[in-house]
Amino acid sequence: MADYRQMWQDLGMDLQTHDVLCDVLPQAFGDVYLSQKNRPEGMDFFNMVVAEIHGIRPAELVEFQKTGGKVFGTFCVYVPDEVIFAADAIATGLCGGSQFWVPGGEKVLPTSTCPLIKASVGARLDATCPFFRIADMYIGETTCDGKKKAWEILAEDVPVYVMDLPQMKRDKDVKAWGEEIAALKDKVEEFTGNKVTAEKLKEGIKLINDKRRALARLYEFRKQPNPPISGKDCLLVSQIAFYDDPARNAQMINKLCGELDERVQNGVGVYEEGAKRILITGTPMAIPNWKLHHIVESSGAAVVAEETCTGVRYFEHLVEENRDTLEGQIDALAERYMKINCACFTPNEKRIDDIKRLVKEYDADGVIDVNLKFCSLYDIEGYNVEKAMKEAGIPCLGIETDYTDEDAGQLRTRVGAFLEMLGE
Ligand code: SF4
Ligand code: SF4
Repeated sequence: MADYRQMWQDLGMDLQTHDVLCDVLPQAFGDVYLSQKNRPEGMDFFNMVVAEIHGIRPAELVEFQKTGGKVFGTFCVYVPDEVIFAADAIATGLCGGSQFWVPGGEKVLPTSTCPLIKASVGARLDATCPFFRIADMYIGETTCDGKKKAWEILAEDVPVYVMDLPQMKRDKDVKAWGEEIAALKDKVEEFTGNKVTAEKLKEGIKLINDKRRALARLYEFRKQPNPPISGKDCLLVSQIAFYDDPARNAQMINKLCGELDERVQNGVGVYEEGAKRILITGTPMAIPNWKLHHIVESSGAAVVAEETCTGVRYFEHLVEENRDTLEGQIDALAERYMKINCACFTPNEKRIDDIKRLVKEYDADGVIDVNLKFCSLYDIEGYNVEKAMKEAGIPCLGIETDYTDEDAGQLRTRVGAFLEMLGE
C-alpha cells in the first residue's frame, strides 16, 4: 500500500489504533476473498480498492476538498445522492461493518444497540476511519430509534443534518418525503454555496441511475444456472459502490460484466454442480462484513441475491429521467426512494412480496433471513418473513448475528443443516 500516513495524521486520526486495523484487514480479505477459485479478472480492480480502502478514495476526497468541494457522509439508502452530486459535492457511504469499531461505539451507546450503529459511531469518535474524518457533514435519517439517538451524539462532534423519513407509504407520505428532499436540496446548497439547478439535478439522476443499471446488470448474471461470479464477490462490488466515485464505479462494474458475458458464453461458472441457491434477506452488510456470505459459500452453496440494502434494495427501481423541472425531479426522486421496502415502514407487505419475487427470479432453493443483533425492526419483521415463506412453501432459516466471530462455528452448523435439508 502507498504511504498515506501523512494524510491520516492531517485528518486527526489515531494512527496507532488504525495500524491495528490495517494489519488485520489484508489477512481477513485474503482468507475470505483471495482464497476463492476461478474469480473473474475484473475483480482485480475491486481487490485493489479494498487493499487501499483507507488510501485511494480518501486521498481523492481530500484533494476535492482542497479545491473547495464538500463531502457528505450518508448511512442509509433512502438518502438521495443525486441531490448531493447535483450541488457539485460528493456523497460517500459511512456505515461501519467491522467489530473493530464496535467498542468505540459502546463507550457512548448502550451495548444493546445494533453493531452497525455502534461501529459507525465508534469509527468517528475513535478517529480510526478516514471517511468518517473527511466528511464535512453527515446526513442522517429517522429510520430507526438507534440511529435517531446516535445522530444526537455524533452531532456533538460533526455537523449532522437529519432527514425525517415517513414510516408509512400513503400518498401524503410520498409527498412528505418529497418535501424532505427539497429541504435537503436547500441545506446542501447552503452548505456548498452551489445552486442545484434542474439541469444539474438531471445529470445527478442520470449519474446515480447509471450506477444502478450497472449493478442490476451484474445481478442478472446471478440468475444463471451456474453463476459466473460468486455471491461474495457481488457483495463486495455492492459494498464498494457506496464509497467509490459513481461514474468510475459504473464503468468498472460494466467492464466486469463484459467479462461475465464471455464466461456465460463459454459455460464458465464458479460453483460446484448442484450447489444450493440461497437468497439472503434482512439487515444490511456494510464493508467489511462478509461473515454470512463466507459461511454459506464455503459450505458449498451459492448466494444468488440479497434482499438487503447492500443488495437489490440499493439499485432496484430507477428515478424517472425525463422530468425537466426541479419540482418534477424531486417528485420523481420521492417516488423512487419510497419504493424501497425497509422494515422501518408499516405495513410492509411489499417487502414480503419482494422476497417471494426474488426467490422466483433468482431460482433460490431457500432463504436465509439475517438479523443484526439488537435490530428490533428486522427481528420483529422476521416473524412475518418466516410465516410468509412457510405459507409459500419456501424453506427459510432465520438467524441473528453480529460482527464478532464468536458464533461462526454455531452458524456454520446451522447453515450446514439447512443446506442438507434443502438437498433432501
Ligand atoms: S435497512 Fe433501512 S435504515 Fe438501514 S440502510 Fe436500509 S433502508 Fe436505511
Ligand atoms: S440494522 Fe436495524 S437497528 Fe441497525 S441501523 Fe439498520 S435499521 Fe437500525
